Amino acid sequence: MDWEDYRTWSARAADWAAGYIRSLPDQPVRSRTRPGDTLADLPAAPPENGESMESIFADFKRIIPPGLTHWQHPRMFAYFPANGSPPAALAEQLCAVIGINSMLWQTSPAATELEIRMIEWLRLMTGLPAGWRGTIQDTASTSSLVAIMAAREKALDWSGLSDGLAGKPQLRIYSTMHAHSSIAKAAALSGIGRSNAVQVSCAADGAMDPAALAAQINADRAAGMLPVAVVAVVGGTSIGVSDHLRPIGEIANSEGLFFHVDAAWAGSAMICPEFRYLNEGVELADSYVFNPHKWLGVQIECSAHFLKDPEPLLRTMEARPAYLRTSSDGQIDNFSEWSVSLGRRFRALKLWFAIRSRGVSGMREMIRNHVAWAAEAAVLLRAAPGFEITSEPALGLFSFRHMPKPDMLLEQANEHNAALLESINAAGATCLTQTMIDGKYVIRMCVGQTDTTLEDVRQAVASVIECASSTRP
Ligand SMILES: *Cc1c(COP(=O)(O)O)cnc(C)c1O
Repeated sequence: MDWEDYRTWSARAADWAAGYIRSLPDQPVRSRTRPGDTLADLPAAPPENGESMESIFADFKRIIPPGLTHWQHPRMFAYFPANGSPPAALAEQLCAVIGINSMLWQTSPAATELEIRMIEWLRLMTGLPAGWRGTIQDTASTSSLVAIMAAREKALDWSGLSDGLAGKPQLRIYSTMHAHSSIAKAAALSGIGRSNAVQVSCAADGAMDPAALAAQINADRAAGMLPVAVVAVVGGTSIGVSDHLRPIGEIANSEGLFFHVDAAWAGSAMICPEFRYLNEGVELADSYVFNPHKWLGVQIECSAHFLKDPEPLLRTMEARPAYLRTSSDGQIDNFSEWSVSLGRRFRALKLWFAIRSRGVSGMREMIRNHVAWAAEAAVLLRAAPGFEITSEPALGLFSFRHMPKPDMLLEQANEHNAALLESINAAGATCLTQTMIDGKYVIRMCVGQTDTTLEDVRQAVASVIECASSTRP
């Protein structure tokens, strides 16, 4: 296949792709393959001689779609969404063809400058503080990792970078049980250690208790430890809990700790002014991440990482061997110096296409609909026999469980709801996932898929109720 053939195949691929998306409402959301099914369809060894695109594409159509859980399905309500859109898909195709590495300004000035502008657009769209700068990382996990690395180095006065951590005081970071697992992972990867990612206790609403945070910091200092950072969450992954940024940020600021905010999912909703109360006090943060790839209609990977002052991050991440020096150094950003990897994809293009195509008002409308429909789904389930809402809607996310007999023992209720979830996903009309609240197994529903309609939400709820009526406790 050469670039002339590419014209034909790209058209055929686009034709298949649009048909795939259109076919989704009639397909089960979760893949029905069993472990090893796809592997069994793949030759054990690579072909010695080239094959025709005709046969490659035929195998793609035969082998791959059955093994997909359809994240773009309008009734995909599991996890948090990865909601793409046609303009962003088109941009991804162009990026693949252009095939650049946007590691330095010089390696494609347009990519770096578009990224600077898109970060500025996102800042304006979400009402984040003036003067903040940022970059587009692959994922929130990476954004949080590099933020915690920068926090560590700031606390160590930059000595960990050259000397390592041997002989250094025990470092501590603070979050709560609602922090994403990527925070404990960042503690592990940054050498701080998982056991030094302290879970501060929560107030009744699930948010970090500021008094407990202050007490923990004091106790740790008294024990000779070195507090490094506080990590707050806006829109926690389990049930959407948000920390109160102002009281937490005030403590972090007055104690001289780095303050990182993980708003991976909920951050997109800040384009609607009525949800910005969740960001109240955000100006106290040093670092803030949200993923347009979760809720702004931009294909994964697209994580917007903002910094009040990029200097600590740059000082931690930069590497300038002779072969990477350029004459523009110091005049404009080289984004590889803001992250772990050197090579980076051109991620700004899909944002540009998506934001321009839909407009900010179109994106707001989508998010407002999702939030309203999640509320409606909770109302429908609350009214259905035996169902209880176990966490009220937080933006587009709520959780529930089914209690056919009110006096069920915890273990029995948990088994019943695990069986119910399995039957919902096997039925295929929707796909949901679970979480635990105080030992209770509950089912999460998060509305946020680009093509979802109110009718899809109602169909999913109807399937849940139907599955419950046929799942014996
Ligand atoms: C989804 C999520 C993450 C992880 O995001 P990735 O981009 O997949 O690394 C981190 N934190 C929160 C709160 C999330 O919802």
